[in-house]
Amino acid sequence: METPYWDEQMETLAPEQLKDLQLERLKDLVAYAFKHNPGYKKRFATAGVKPRDIKKLEDLAKLPFLTKDDLRRYYPYGLVCVPMSEIHYIHASSGTTGKPVVAAYTQKDLDNWADLMARSLWAGGLRTGDILHNAYGYGLFTGAHGHELGANRIGTTVIPMGAGNTRRQLAIMQDFGATALAATPSYTLYVAEVAKGLGLDPKKDFRIRLGFLGAEAWSDELKSKIEETWEMKTCEQYGLTEVIGPGVSFDCGMGDGLHINADHFLTEVVDPKTGAPLPPGERGELVFTTLMKEAFPVIRFRTRDLAVLTEERCDCGRSLPRHSRILGRADDMIKVKGVILFPRQIEEAIMRVAGTSENYQIIKEQTVPLTTLRVLVEPTAQRFAAGKLDELAKRISQEIYTMLSVHVTVEVVSPGSIPRSEGKAKRVTEAE
Ligand code: ZN
Repeated sequence: METPYWDEQMETLAPEQLKDLQLERLKDLVAYAFKHNPGYKKRFATAGVKPRDIKKLEDLAKLPFLTKDDLRRYYPYGLVCVPMSEIHYIHASSGTTGKPVVAAYTQKDLDNWADLMARSLWAGGLRTGDILHNAYGYGLFTGAHGHELGANRIGTTVIPMGAGNTRRQLAIMQDFGATALAATPSYTLYVAEVAKGLGLDPKKDFRIRLGFLGAEAWSDELKSKIEETWEMKTCEQYGLTEVIGPGVSFDCGMGDGLHINADHFLTEVVDPKTGAPLPPGERGELVFTTLMKEAFPVIRFRTRDLAVLTEERCDCGRSLPRHSRILGRADDMIKVKGVILFPRQIEEAIMRVAGTSENYQIIKEQTVPLTTLRVLVEPTAQRFAAGKLDELAKRISQEIYTMLSVHVTVEVVSPGSIPRSEGKAKRVTEAE
C-alpha cells in the first residue's frame, strides 16, 4: 500500500525523540556558526554566549534575534559559513524595501531542500504521473525552484512556466495536461478569471486537481473559492527566502494548520513587540532557527509573520508540530481607531457577502491623528449588472463592522478595475 508519508520516520517521530534530535542539531549548529562565521562569533560574544552554554533547547533564548535589517547589514555574504567555492546556488528576497537578503546553498542544502519540498508536496497528494505547472516566477525568488526541486525528487513532470503572460499560461496548462498548479492564491484566481473571459471553464476544460499555493496570507474564504472555481484541492506551502524558501511548513490536507519540518527548523513564537517568548496556543510572531543549513544558517530569525503554534497530534498521523495559517505580517497590521486588523480579515468579511469577488484594495488614509480606511471592492459581473451598488457597499461595510468593529468606507467599483498581480498581490496602498 502506498504510504501517506514521504519520510515516515521523521514525520511520525515521537515528540521526545524529536526534541532530542533538535537539541543535538542545535548544539552542532551553534558550534558550527561560531567556528565558521566571524559575524555570528561576534554576535554570540556580544550576547555573552559560548557554544557550550547551549545545553537544553530553552538555552536558544540566550542567543540574539536576527532581524531582516540585521541580514541586510550582512549583505551579500556576511553570514555565509562556507567558502564561496562550495556555494552551488544563490537566491534572494525581492528587496522591495531595501537591499535584498541573499540566500546561499551548498549542494547538501539543495538536497535537503528537495527532500523537504518532496515531503510537503507528497503530503498534499503530488505523485509520479502528475504534471506540475509551475507558475511562480523563476529567477532569484525561491518559490519556483523550491517546487521544482521537490517535484523532481518525487518524479513528477514539471512545466517550468514561470510568471506572466496569462493567456499563454492557460494554453500550456491545457495543452500539456497539467494536473497540479504551483502559484500564489491571488494569481490562481486571476488565471481562472482570464480563462472564463476566453470562454473556458476552469473545471471542465482543465485537468488541474491540486494547487500548491503560498507566498501570501489568504483567508479561508479565498481558499474555498479557489477550490470551488477550479474543482481542486489546495495545499498551502509556507516558507521564507531567509529560512530556505518554501518547504518550512506544509498543509497535510486536514485543514488544521501547517506541519513544520521541525527536524530542520526550530520554531519559537514571540510577542511581536517585546520579543518575549509565548507558550503554544498564543498568537505571536514566528521565529525560526535552521538546524541543518550549511551555507547560510539563520539563528532566531524574526519572520514578522503572525501565527499560533500547537504541538497537539494531528489526525493525519504526523507528529510534527503545526502552526496556524498565517494571519498576516506584523508589518501589514493596520490600526484603526484602536482596533488592530489585517488585510486577510477584511478579505474574509468581503467574501462573506454575496455578489462580491476576491478583487479588493485597501487604501490607508492618514488623517492625523487617525488612520482611516477606504476599501474598494469589485462585485461579480452579474451583481454589477444588477445595479443598486450602494446597497452592496453598505452590506460589505456592515459585514466588516460586524466582524471587526471598525467603520470603513466601502466603494463598489467596476469589475476589472483593480490592478491584478502575477505574483504576490498588493492589497494595501497608502492614499496619495
Ligand atoms: Zn496533519
